[in-house]
Amino acid sequence: MNILKGIAASSGIAVAKAYLLDEPVLAVEKKTVHDVDAELKRLDSALVQSTKELEEIRAHAMENLGADKAAIFDAHLLVLSDPEMLTPIKDKIKAEQVNAEFSLKETADMFIAMFESMDNEYMRERAADIRDVTKRILAHLLGVRLPNPSMISEEVIIVAEDLTPSDTAQLDPKFVKGFTTNVGGRTSHSAIMARSLEIPAVVGTKKATMEIQNGDLIIVDGLNGEIYINPDDELIREFKGRHEAYEAQKSEWAKLVNEKTVTVDGYQVELAANIGTPKDLESALKNGAEGIGLFRTEFLYMGRDQLPTEEEQFEAYKAVLEGMNGKPVVVRTLDIGGDKELPYLQLPDEMNPFLGFRAIRLCLEEQEMFRTQLRALLRASAYGNLRIMFPMIATLTEFRQAKAILEEEKTKLLQEGIRVSEEIQTGIMVEIPSTAVLADQFAKEVDFFSIGTNDLIQYTMAADRMNERVSYLYQPYNPSILRLIKMVIDAGHNEGKWVGMCGEMAGEELAIPILIGLGLDEFSMSSSSILKVRSLIHKLNKQKMEQLAEEVLQMSVVEDVINAVQETAMQLEKRI
Ligand code: PEP
Ligand code: MG
Repeated sequence: MNILKGIAASSGIAVAKAYLLDEPVLAVEKKTVHDVDAELKRLDSALVQSTKELEEIRAHAMENLGADKAAIFDAHLLVLSDPEMLTPIKDKIKAEQVNAEFSLKETADMFIAMFESMDNEYMRERAADIRDVTKRILAHLLGVRLPNPSMISEEVIIVAEDLTPSDTAQLDPKFVKGFTTNVGGRTSHSAIMARSLEIPAVVGTKKATMEIQNGDLIIVDGLNGEIYINPDDELIREFKGRHEAYEAQKSEWAKLVNEKTVTVDGYQVELAANIGTPKDLESALKNGAEGIGLFRTEFLYMGRDQLPTEEEQFEAYKAVLEGMNGKPVVVRTLDIGGDKELPYLQLPDEMNPFLGFRAIRLCLEEQEMFRTQLRALLRASAYGNLRIMFPMIATLTEFRQAKAILEEEKTKLLQEGIRVSEEIQTGIMVEIPSTAVLADQFAKEVDFFSIGTNDLIQYTMAADRMNERVSYLYQPYNPSILRLIKMVIDAGHNEGKWVGMCGEMAGEELAIPILIGLGLDEFSMSSSSILKVRSLIHKLNKQKMEQLAEEVLQMSVVEDVINAVQETAMQLEKRI
């Protein structure tokens, strides 16, 4: 048995067979063939197999993931039957007596280069389709297995280098019992998705795809960040026991679902959920969310091949607002960029995507896209308690510009006779140090702050949140971060504004005592963390936590802060 250490990214324990989602190497060599007919037959057979496979995938996607996602495979099937693509491949085999792999690759590369150089966006998307289909045919010619995540129909644990949000969106949580990746940290989006799907995950193992074979039995221990490869029966029994104990603990927490979140001395806060799609609402409600503190709308834009329309977005926002039945719903406008890509936007590659043209920067430039989203939101506002939040705000000017665009769209809608709520609050994510430092000025103009620690920590510490080699610098409890958080909370309160936190820190057991002490009003987290956090807050004394917060703010290294909070936690355990 082999054990891999990684970062515990989503709690729980899973035992199942491994499903490797790594990209195989499809190396093509040029060979001379003597039997051209046999080579043509080999190509035909690969085409037939690829078509059959794609038809199955499309049918499966249609049934489980919806028409949107299935449409991607329609485009692939079109390429597979297109004579303009197939004839030159066959002609080349005949004329040059070369192997099918080589002819396919050369011809496809030529088409890809041609489509990619076109101005027309639709044509550029065809290049991506050709690349995908070529990969599938090549895999059949070379006898190599290509992973098809959307086809999984038995219980598995996904093992991958990394999982992009759109990969994750294609996974059916019915069958995917857990996952592990080579790269990533607790706040990479694959980890966040795992928590929202409530499946255990260990990320940043560095070598899971090297050490684990397809079909190996593995245990994912999402509580301690460990992976066990081909464990013996005794260990499997032990982990099944731990899994049951964890489930029993969850049933205890479940009793708090309708309770308020109040400390022993009567200080009340709000626990909200972070969601990515209207589908996540079910889990938010089941876990007793008192609101939605962060709706990451970029997931509505991912895993498809064009922008969502105003109508599609309106329906999604309306569904969430109605589902929350008057409770607050903070919707964040599009935050694309960093590790979240939209291939169909064709944005140029950047040296430092996390510091680049993303989120509000992109929206203020691509105003048509931004205005469509704002109109959808404004229209949906009539159906609940909407709060609009702008991401990655670095200057007050950006906030003013975004707000002005919002006001313009509101005026237009009202002129068209469309109902828009008069009560919409507008706020910002505080996730860039410049904004945290200048929070007193921002507080005069925004209705609320939500602290985005995932980014605030990476920008303050200059440590990429995706890079496990610098994860030691990713320190939520560094006094510098705690002081910034205090500045933002105090600045908001001085102007009578509420302050929340929607970064992952808001759901972490170690952070809760400090944040209660600092006076945070709203904690927004993965739904699966809400009840655990509520149970913890029920045991805390606000006044004592204020003393703790004061102490840790004066400390100089992160280790001291962690020790101080752990000490407090131990005293709590003793009292119960
Ligand atoms: C954050 O940065 O803390 C945040 C909540 O946003 P995201 O994780 O989507 O960047
Ligand atoms: Mg962020």
